[in-house]
Amino acid sequence: AELDTLDILVLGVILLGTLAYFTKGTLWAKEKDPYASPAYLNGNASKAGKTRNFVDKMDESGKNCIIFYGSQTGTAEDYASRLAKEGKSRFGLETMVADLEEYDFDGLDALPSDKIAFFILATYGEGEPTDNAVEFYEFIKGDDVAFSQGGEDAPLENLNYVAFGLGNNTYEHYNSMVRDVDKLLTKYGGHRIGDAGEGDDGAGTMEEDFLAWKEPMWAALASHMGLEEREAVYEPVFGIVDREGLTPQSSEVYLGEPNKMHLESASKGPFNAHNPYIAPIAESYELFKVKDRNCIHLEVDISGSTLSYTTGDHIAIWPTNAGDEVDRFLRVTGLADKRDQVISVKALEPTAKVPFPTPTTFDAIVRYHLEIGAPVSRQFVSTLAAFAPTEEIKAEMTKLGNDKDYFHDKTSSQLLNIARLLEYVSNGETWDKIPFSAFIEGLNKLQPRYYSISSSSHVQPKKISVTAVVESSMVMGRKDPFRGVATNYLLALKQKQNGDADPSPFGLTYELHGPRNKYDGIHVPVHVRHSNFKLPSDPAKPIIMIGPGTGVAPFRGFIQERAQQAREGINVGRTVLFFGCRKSTEDFMYESEFEEYKKALGDKFELVTAFSRESSQKVYVQHRLKERSAEISDLLSQKAFFYVCGDAANMAREVNTVLTQIISEGRGVSETKAEEIVKNMRAANQYQEDVW
Ligand code: FAD
Repeated sequence: AELDTLDILVLGVILLGTLAYFTKGTLWAKEKDPYASPAYLNGNASKAGKTRNFVDKMDESGKNCIIFYGSQTGTAEDYASRLAKEGKSRFGLETMVADLEEYDFDGLDALPSDKIAFFILATYGEGEPTDNAVEFYEFIKGDDVAFSQGGEDAPLENLNYVAFGLGNNTYEHYNSMVRDVDKLLTKYGGHRIGDAGEGDDGAGTMEEDFLAWKEPMWAALASHMGLEEREAVYEPVFGIVDREGLTPQSSEVYLGEPNKMHLESASKGPFNAHNPYIAPIAESYELFKVKDRNCIHLEVDISGSTLSYTTGDHIAIWPTNAGDEVDRFLRVTGLADKRDQVISVKALEPTAKVPFPTPTTFDAIVRYHLEIGAPVSRQFVSTLAAFAPTEEIKAEMTKLGNDKDYFHDKTSSQLLNIARLLEYVSNGETWDKIPFSAFIEGLNKLQPRYYSISSSSHVQPKKISVTAVVESSMVMGRKDPFRGVATNYLLALKQKQNGDADPSPFGLTYELHGPRNKYDGIHVPVHVRHSNFKLPSDPAKPIIMIGPGTGVAPFRGFIQERAQQAREGINVGRTVLFFGCRKSTEDFMYESEFEEYKKALGDKFELVTAFSRESSQKVYVQHRLKERSAEISDLLSQKAFFYVCGDAANMAREVNTVLTQIISEGRGVSETKAEEIVKNMRAANQYQEDVW
């Protein structure tokens, strides 16, 4: 019966599609209700005209469960969709997923008590909300928060909610978003169902933390709402419609263009996380002097755009998947022959959003829009088991899905992506029974990668430098090394720019010319993200920078800026950089540039190096910092700004510890007191981190 309903829906969609085709969409242009119009006519439904009242929207669409997400890199969004899916298939909840940015929250008190709201909230950087959660957070923590019905004591007494946070324990404000929001909702009378879960990226246990949290949460929710669990049957959220009559050459077909504007003309601003600028790369070169590791310097030209940046900001690079991985994915899913077939994707229920514009092709979806390289979730493996080519393979998938340790040994320790996992489990046999919808639901959108801008906006306002180390790691038991998505793409671009006719780093090929050759002449899609990682406004203030490896990126920008200021006759304060790498002869990036800056800055600039592989004992930046205790103490007493950039997992934490020791010894105060001083430095922005 399930299939019959789907068939009818798909048939309906085909009919609508044909109608739309013959009327060139004029019928739908008049459509008032934006989410009732077929998504494939205009890409994602435009934001304009949508209601911001989620209670109304739930009523209109017959939902009793709304799952809000605050997501920066897509994981929280992915968890939200998975919860929505599971809530529906296992418990019959009428779920919808909602981007926090798209709704107002003064109506939180209007959600009736027989409905439920989920908050899946990532914490970003120094305890900050994700970009899409800023407004929500400002609202809920406001001193004068006012809900629509104006109840005074416990305005949210009808609100039942569920909460899960995504954080990183290496940061000071671990999971502060979910903790704060949970406290505030409770304070206003809301009732949390189950525990407020916390996933820890720092410990590398995010996925398992999520899986472990959700089972007791579902039990608590089922008991609270009187839900009966039933056997979960997979129901596709998206229907795939063949668009016969269209070819990849048809002008309305998206071949990887991120949105309608890009399809119709050269890209127009504003450029942001929804709309990249296709930027020319002015120059690119290798920074390392060894064969087996690469670090790329890029100059991205933004002069033809409205983009701007200030020193210390981040640039986002929108990558393309490697051709070999695209081929592998299409081969193992049985789609290789259909890769250029034009299809539309239609949300089969009103609140679901197609995450890329259509009509498009399977090739374009897999190459430009889906994160096919990422780690695979165990839950997704369980979902796919039902579509295994044989009973034996199904049993193996089910085992992998259920057994955490087995899953780790067999697949995640091998850094397998989805296609490699399927290939491995089926021994190469094709998985052609998986509905394509399952991939749209189960894989993330291909995410832009962020890079700390390594140039100064004072020196080169229209050119953004990027310093990216190429991700590549040998994996025990695997023939080929693991290759990172964005950085190998950048390496290919660099090779092409430097005269390689057929660039294929490590045998990986890329469609560098982009959809409809729009990236030809070496272009890359980018946008800029402003950050709080900033030089002191007074150039005379001393600064101490800790930046090993690519952590040096923003500091190259800082020093470039101060060198220029010194040349202009401005009084520049002491500028000390702690840089570390393996060997002075291998990966000491920007060595000769630092010599140039030294000429401009003289004694104001000092570069302290730590080479970890040049002596029997490994020396790291934190050791050098310790050796300079007296000088650091002295600079701090002159109100020096202290900056750390790079590895969040170990380095940043150890630097924090060393700094605490320096303060404790230098000022003769207890460790506890020194910790408090460091905390205060952070709060006053005198201690700033840009870590990942
Ligand atoms: P990805 O393919 O994203 O892989 C990255 C890692 O994810 C892998 O090493 C692995 O640990 C894991 N992983 C991926 N796929 C799998 C799998 N299938 N199974 C298991 N594990 C997997 N980097 C720089 O080089 N320079 C910078 O200046 C810089 N600045 C940054 C600033 C910010 C604010 C942030 C958030 C990050 C910054 N980064 C920087 C890191 C950068 O954004 C990228 O994460 C990095 O370049 C790797 O990207 P990638 O696409 O090549 O690798």
